[in-house]
Amino acid sequence: MNKPILLSTPHMGDHELELVKLAFETNWIAPVGPHVDAFEQEFCRVTGAGHAAAVSSGTAALHLALRLVGVESGDEVFCSTLTFTATANPIIYLGAKPVFIDSDRTSWNMNPDLLREALLKRARIGKLPKAVVVVHLYGQSADIDPILKICCQYDVPLIEDAAESLGATYKGHSSGTFGHIGIYSFNGNKIITTSGGGMLVSDDPEVVTKARFLATQARDPAPHYQHSQIGYNYRLSNVLAGIGRGQLLVLGDRVAARRHNFEIYASALANLPGIEFMPEAAFGRATRWLTCLTINPEAFGVDREQIRIALAKQQIETRPVWKPLHLQPVFAEYECIGGEVAEDLFARGLCLPSGSNLTANDLEQVINAIHDIHY
Ligand SMILES: *Cc1c(COP(=O)(O)O)cnc(C)c1O
Repeated sequence: MNKPILLSTPHMGDHELELVKLAFETNWIAPVGPHVDAFEQEFCRVTGAGHAAAVSSGTAALHLALRLVGVESGDEVFCSTLTFTATANPIIYLGAKPVFIDSDRTSWNMNPDLLREALLKRARIGKLPKAVVVVHLYGQSADIDPILKICCQYDVPLIEDAAESLGATYKGHSSGTFGHIGIYSFNGNKIITTSGGGMLVSDDPEVVTKARFLATQARDPAPHYQHSQIGYNYRLSNVLAGIGRGQLLVLGDRVAARRHNFEIYASALANLPGIEFMPEAAFGRATRWLTCLTINPEAFGVDREQIRIALAKQQIETRPVWKPLHLQPVFAEYECIGGEVAEDLFARGLCLPSGSNLTANDLEQVINAIHDIHY
């Protein structure tokens, strides 16, 4: 039996362990310390973000972001539908209601035209959402310029979920750095990892200071423990920030490796009928965090699920493209604007093994397995 080929696994560089050791040697084993401070500064340098707060997960960062823009019980928040559930869960934590928005075919991300129409309609009835959460999926930026313009026009804060897109750019700038607040994830499957972790960024220093305050139980300045707001325990451990600092050093290599995976897959599979890869939009540079494709079953001969199951039998892990949130049982009661594009991408979309640590032999096995299904 072959060794399993997984979708996306952690890939440590040469410096993470020594930075973790340094945390041990200096006894900074706490959710505060020099690695946390340095990780935030280095993250800003790499992404061009103004200010950053390191937190325990991308989900925590989103929860804080929504709190910071004032989302409260009963509010509406517009949100991409084609994404992981963690994008929308924090909307529910705050008692607010998501309104999902469909993707476009250019980037698979939020369709700016649908957002424009939806905001116009809400403005007419005087019921604008408290925030828009746009997702940069699978390492590719959404079309930020029109989205930002529409949000500014209606004065609705934009939160960017760049959990999957560290290293991606839009017109030369890092995705996640355009909106009022951006968030990133360092979960084990992401392009770099701290095992678990996240970052919240903003150009507004007050926003980031307030994020750190809320993330450390909202302690008022007093010698005793005093609290006038409800906070969270969301700071990143100094030990894990050491891993993050090491991982930031190899981010460029990780992007290059994932783009290389894509190139190999594309050149070996593009000639098969009925296979189409996720497009790379002209406005940005994608990381190809995951290599995604869609299958046209009539042309290819079998459908996406048959491919996925055939590959699984050979120990090759693939995944359907995200099930749109408006189709998730837990979000069934919420409105969705459009939805056909995301539904189609889910029905026909497949994510291939895409780790930066895959070998040429791994890629060849995946490619051969797909060729075998087709013939
Ligand atoms: C991974 C992910 C998150 C959540 O990040 P965690 O660090 O796992 O909490 C949020 N949104 C998207 C799109 C993700 O892929």
